Amino acid sequence: MMEKSSIDALRENLKEIEENISAACQRAGRKREEVTLMAVTKTVDVQRINEAISLGCGLIGENRVQEFLQKEPSLLPCRRHIIGHLQTNKVKQIAGRVDMIESVDSVRLAALISEESMKKGLVTDILVEVNIGNDENKSGIAPSQTQPVLREISVLQGVRVQGLMTIPPISEDKEAARKFFSRMRQLFIDIRDKKIDNINMSICSMGMSGDYDVAVEEGSTLVRIGSALFGARK
Ligand SMILES: *Cc1c(COP(=O)(O)O)cnc(C)c1O
Repeated sequence: MMEKSSIDALRENLKEIEENISAACQRAGRKREEVTLMAVTKTVDVQRINEAISLGCGLIGENRVQEFLQKEPSLLPCRRHIIGHLQTNKVKQIAGRVDMIESVDSVRLAALISEESMKKGLVTDILVEVNIGNDENKSGIAPSQTQPVLREISVLQGVRVQGLMTIPPISEDKEAARKFFSRMRQLFIDIRDKKIDNINMSICSMGMSGDYDVAVEEGSTLVRIGSALFGARK
C-alpha cells in the first residue's frame, strides 16, 4: 500500500486537530488563543518533528530526558517541555535545557530542580502534576495535597510554578474523562484564587489525542497530542 508522504499526512492531521480545538472552544465560549497545542514527540524521529515544527507546531513535549537530549541538537527552533515522569538522577542533565518541566510530582523533585537551576543561575518554569483520579497507577500529587505542596514549592528560588498538569484515569470513553477535567479545572481555579506568593496559575495542561476536545470544553489551556498528529506509536 502506498503511504502518503509524511508531511502531507501531518498537514492533514494538524488541520483536523486545529478544527476540533476551534470547535470545542466555540462550544465552550472560549477564544482559540486560550488553548496551546503541544506536539508530543516521544518515539518520533527528528525529521518528522521538524516537519511538524515547520507546519507551525511551536511547542513540543518529550517524555524521556535521554531521548530529548539526543534529539535536541537537531531540532528547529521551538519551545520544549518535559512531560514524562522525571527521575531525580536526571535533573542535573535537564536543568537549563528545557522551557518547562510539566511533570513535577513531589516537593523533593521540585527542590532538586530548584537547586540545579540556581547553580546554573536560572529559574526553571514548572507545572505540578496532579493525580486527579486518585489513581494508584499514576504519579502526581493527590488533589487534597496540591495546595499544601504548592505552598512548600513556592519558597524555592530556582523554580517558578506556572500551573498544573494532569492525566486522568485511562478509559475507552472520552466522556468518562469529563468529570476529571472538570474537577481539575475547579482545583486550578480554587488555587488561583488563593493568590499564593510566587505561584502563577496560568497553565492547566490536560487533554491528549483521545479526549482533547472534552478537555478544551472543560477549560484546558494546553493539550498534549501525540498519536492523533504523528500516527500510532510502535
Ligand atoms: C504520550 C503522552 C501524551 C500524548 O498521548 P497521545 O494519546 O498519543 O496523544 C500526552 N501526555 C503525556 C504525559 C504523554 O506521556
